[in-house]
Amino acid sequence: MKRNDARFMSWVLVWCLAVTIGCSREAPEPRLVTGGSPNDTGLAQKRCTLHQEELAPDTVAILYGLRRFKPDSLKAARTIFPNARTSVLGGCVVLDAKKVEVRYCRSCRTARTLWLAQQARQE
Ligand SMILES: [Zn+2]
Repeated sequence: MKRNDARFMSWVLVWCLAVTIGCSREAPEPRLVTGGSPNDTGLAQKRCTLHQEELAPDTVAILYGLRRFKPDSLKAARTIFPNARTSVLGGCVVLDAKKVEVRYCRSCRTARTLWLAQQARQE
């Protein structure tokens, strides 16, 4: 398989996952400020699995709709800053809730900021 074919197949896989997960009406139980069903709030988690740091509370925006992410961004989020949680995906059904309570890792947010700055320099 050529490199471009592999990249294309990665995008197709990410898109299929986003449609399957992001648009599901069967999202986990919400922990919202004003109701709704975003995923991955981290409220059931005590510590960052990467930095072993205690997670802190915050309120972040819920991003509705189908989101596209570059494979590098997804990999970085998973491996470098898994608990940054600067926003939460709310799926394709737009609800009244605009913000959600989350728990985040300070070191993950710092790592995310550094990673984004590095990406901006490379573009
Ligand atoms: Zn962390």
